[in-house]
Parts: sequence; C-alpha cells; structure tokens
Amino acid sequence: MIIENLDNNKLFIVYLLINILKEKNIRGYLVGGAVRDLILGEKVRDIDIGLEEDPKIIIPYIENHLISFTYHEKFNTSTLHFKNGESIDLIRCRKEKYLNNGGLPIVQPSNIRDDLFRRDFTINAMAIDLLNGEIIDYHFGKEDLVNKRLKKIHENSYLEDPTRIFRAVKYAMRYGLEISDEDEIIQCIQNGAIDTLSVDRIVKEILMILEEDTWTEALCYLNELNIFKVNKEVLGKPNTLESYDNILLRILNLFYSLEREEDKSILINNSIIPKEIKKGMGRYLYEKDIVEKLQLQNNNYNIYNILEKSTYIERVILLWNKKLKYKIINFEKNLNNSKILDENFIKSIKGKSGREINEIVKNIKKASLCTGIKGGNLKWL
Ligand code: ATP
Ligand code: MG
Repeated sequence: MIIENLDNNKLFIVYLLINILKEKNIRGYLVGGAVRDLILGEKVRDIDIGLEEDPKIIIPYIENHLISFTYHEKFNTSTLHFKNGESIDLIRCRKEKYLNNGGLPIVQPSNIRDDLFRRDFTINAMAIDLLNGEIIDYHFGKEDLVNKRLKKIHENSYLEDPTRIFRAVKYAMRYGLEISDEDEIIQCIQNGAIDTLSVDRIVKEILMILEEDTWTEALCYLNELNIFKVNKEVLGKPNTLESYDNILLRILNLFYSLEREEDKSILINNSIIPKEIKKGMGRYLYEKDIVEKLQLQNNNYNIYNILEKSTYIERVILLWNKKLKYKIINFEKNLNNSKILDENFIKSIKGKSGREINEIVKNIKKASLCTGIKGGNLKWL
C-alpha cells in the first residue's frame, strides 16, 4: 500500500487512526497534498485526514498520545499535536459554496465526494480510503500528475477564490507542471479578480511562495501574469549581509524588485509581516532622500553620518543598489569594528577636552572606514 511510504512517525499516527476508525465504523480518508506527494514519491509534508463525522468524537480515544489539540467549532476541524512531534489536521468532510468572489465560502458538513469537489486542483483532490487503502480520484488527478498538468476542478474556480491563482503558480513551479487554465487565469486577472482579495490574503499567499525553493521562478511567473511587475535583474540577487535561507531576505528582495509603488505598498500595509520589517521597507519607500544623499556623497565620514540614522533593514535593502553597495559594506564593517573603536577611544581621551574628544572620535571613525563585511542580523522580530 502506498501509505506505507510515509515516514515512521506519520505512519504510527495513521495506523492509530485506522484502528479507531475501524472499531467505531467511521469513514476516514487521507486527503490533499499527502496523497499527491505519495503518488509522486515526494516527501510528505503534512497529514490531513477527512472524516465523515465530527472529529470531536474520536479525540477521546487518542488523547493519551497527544500533547495538545485545538478544535474549531465553525469548520469542525481539529489540529492534533502528538507526543512524537508530529501535528496533523482532522477535518469534517464538507461542502462549500461561495456567495462573494474573493470572500470566504459558507460550509456544510458532507461526504468525501463533496469534500474533494470543493478543492482547488485535480492533483490536490485525491484521497486514500483509510478503511481499505483504495485511492479515490474522481477528477483524474493521477493522470494529470503523470502528464504534468495543473487543472482546476470547477467552474469559476479562480474568480470565486483568486488565491488559487497564486497556488497554481506555486505548484506549477514546484513540480514542473503546465497550467492548463492559463488563458482563464489571465482573463480573471484582467477582470480584476486579484482586487477582490484582502491585502492580508494576498500577502499570505506571497509568503507561501517565498517559502518555496522555486520562489524566484514563481515570482517571474506572477510577473508574466501581470499580477505585479518585478525587475528580474535584481530578483534573487545575492546580498552580502544576509542569506536567502532567511525568508525575511526574500521578502526584502521582492520588495526591492517590485517596480510599482502600489505593489511595494502591499508589503508594507498588511497585518502579516512583522512590524520592524514593514517599518524598514516603509522608510526606504517614503523617505527616499537617503538614497539621493548617499549617491551624491563620496566622503566616507559624511556617508557614515547619513547611514548612522538608517536601520539595518534599510541598509540590507540599499545594498542591492549598485551605486550604494560599497558604501553600505564600508559602513557595516565599521559597525563591526565598533568594539576596537571603543578601546582606542578610552585610551585616547584621558585628560582631553570635550572639543579634543570630538575630534578624536571623528578621526577614529574616519580611519576605520575600510572594506570587508560580516552579516546575519536579520531575524523574525
Ligand atoms: P503544500 O505541500 O503546499 O502544503 P497542500 O496540498 O498540503 O500542499 P495546503 O495549502 O496545505 O496544500 O492545503 C491542503 C489542501 O486543502 C490542498 O491540497 C487542497 O486540496 C485544499 N485547499 C487548500 N487551499 C485551497 C483553496 N484555496 N481552494 C480549494 N482547496 C484548497
Ligand atoms: Mg499542506
């Protein structure tokens, strides 16, 4: 059985559930991404189990294996955190109906057929019946996987939920698929579908794309689709201060690469991205004079005085500017030298007047401006 390819911790949980489902005679299914990844032979990221019952009724039978769990009354879904370190989602199979494009659907408990029909793409709409191990594939997702095609399931799919446009690009780039619905997607975008989404929903999708190994390819695709305009020259361009293993650098790079101010402002005006990061991007965007002043200035000491007022995040952004790169590198090197500067400083100020001390500080700063760099300060704040 394909399920046996799950890693040991996941398999333990799935068998635990299978036993309970059999005993209680409840229909349960492994659904969504896990089935897709098992068929592809890829590593399974997370486990979602759909039940034709409220998950509430089986939690008491597994409670001794759990550290904790949460339960959402509205969708009858539960997230279980197991002692072996795994977390899984148990969901009540449901039917969905969209009343407004770009909004959230109304839901109603239902069976596995409806639950698979509500999903985004054929490759994400397969299930494995936990009672007999059979693959359920009403929408021919397996065939699409083999033929490397990404296809929607229902009429108006992208209009009802335009986050699926971002999702389509994400999966297409991750698995090397061709988006069969590309013409329809282009049409939806032209008709303003993206504008029906809240900024927070857009930013959440963008962040999920930035988590992908293929993030730059995906952003180029979104550029081709005209969702936003990016400058491909700077997209993914190395930054000596930070590594792209850090998702925050990817956010800042996207911000710097976006060509239109209105696109940049989405990354600043949302409640998803950490405040300090938004503040750094905001200062860069709305207090542009720092760029001009730095470009005009060639005196290291004056450059130091301008940059002293900048934040680290601003400097990371400024580093992508070819004309400013070495000025920023100098400054950071100087900051890293500040300890040595302190020791010299203490030695040299003994018995000196205030004016003399100022002069010494100035000279030490001037003297310590040289090239070289050490990075790694960008954290989720
Ligand atoms: P990933 O590996 O990216 O986590 P996944 O398939 O697990 O892929 P999730 O975003 O975790 O994707 O969602 C789980 C499942 O829920 C998907 O496989 C899909 O069937 C369904 N789903 C998620 N978002 C939507 C959506 N906007 N519209 C319809 N179905 C969705
Ligand atoms: Mg998932």
